[in-house]
Amino acid sequence: LDTQCLSVLETSALLREDADRRIRGRIEALPEGGAEVSCRSGCHACCYQLVVVSPMEACAIAAYVETHPDLAEAVADRLGAWQARVSEEETLSRMLEQFEADGGCVTSEQGGLLEQEYWKAQIPCPFLEEGRCAVYPVRPFACREHYVLSDPATCSRDPDAVVPAGTRLEFRAVAEWVGSHCFNLEERLVLLPQAIAYAQSHLLNETCEAPADQVQDSIAEGQRRSRRALALLLLATRSRD
Ligand code: SF4
Repeated sequence: LDTQCLSVLETSALLREDADRRIRGRIEALPEGGAEVSCRSGCHACCYQLVVVSPMEACAIAAYVETHPDLAEAVADRLGAWQARVSEEETLSRMLEQFEADGGCVTSEQGGLLEQEYWKAQIPCPFLEEGRCAVYPVRPFACREHYVLSDPATCSRDPDAVVPAGTRLEFRAVAEWVGSHCFNLEERLVLLPQAIAYAQSHLLNETCEAPADQVQDSIAEGQRRSRRALALLLLATRSRD
């Protein structure tokens, strides 16, 4: 692996494999007989929530859609419908524009308000197709990590009341770090419905490469940083309690 180079898409696939392996590990480690993941195929209440992605995830989603022409057409239609729905919501439109202008760099309070406003509007994700994810193999880390232990009916009533399975491992932050340090991608967050447009306008493509050992070092560093940030966050939450 040391002498190879990896493209953005190959690196993105590596990160997804790692995320899937670690999420599976967390789920298998749930106390036996106690907590059980209640997500089932066909559940899609969570696909009405605000989802944001790193530039690397945007690139993988755009490439996947581009190589599936039937999907590309349907997604283009649903993106138009998404935009039209957002335009009907004045406050939400303003907040999303601000999010975009700030590169997704918002305080947790602003992020919380935006999530609430988005949820209120109940706009389906443009990649949701007949209750299923049309980009499932490359779905965002936020979607990959979202497993719940509570009654599935709670998901459509009140996402704040949902009991998550504790799989929040911050893969998106690692992807942001690796993207920026290996491929000169922006360190920012992109609204999922704008992922394809973002990838196209920033010419994110698979010809961009980095040495495999640099990518591996960068993944390890991104994971260290994300674990440290998570630990600090937990500490801050505990000292506030
Ligand atoms: S990308 Fe897929 S899993 Fe994620 S919100 Fe959209 S439809 Fe749902």
